[in-house]
Amino acid sequence: MIDNHLTDIEIQEYVLDASQCTKVNLDHMQVCGHCRVKATQYKRLFAGIEGQEQAAFDFDLAALVMEKLPANKNLWDTYFEWWLAGFVLLVFVIGGYFLRTDLKALRSSLTPLIFLLILIPVLALLVFLGFDMYKAYQKKMKALNFY
Ligand SMILES: [Zn+2]
Repeated sequence: MIDNHLTDIEIQEYVLDASQCTKVNLDHMQVCGHCRVKATQYKRLFAGIEGQEQAAFDFDLAALVMEKLPANKNLWDTYFEWWLAGFVLLVFVIGGYFLRTDLKALRSSLTPLIFLLILIPVLALLVFLGFDMYKAYQKKMKALNFY
């Protein structure tokens, strides 16, 4: 009588793909009736599982989900970012128009070197912040794709 039978996992591996089993396990399966009976039970179980119908809904799932989703946004929500960008641009244009003489005086009072020393860091900061915001946006969108 054999005392050390194969584990359930080893028997399942034997049933699913005997070529992946070790020689010791294959030899054991040849001589052990107990493990062969368990392998037969697993074969029937796996055949029963494979023979079952695929799970399917008996209703239109897509239609139910679409029903729950919010309705189409209105024009304001759809183009909110563009409305905001347009508003900011409008504020700058109007502000620049009313402050045009002061801005010219400011520009003429600054030497080109000082003007560049102000302009370059401001542009570098804007590029950095824009890049950082874009990276954060991509990270969030990537996280959303997992759901
Ligand atoms: Zn055995």
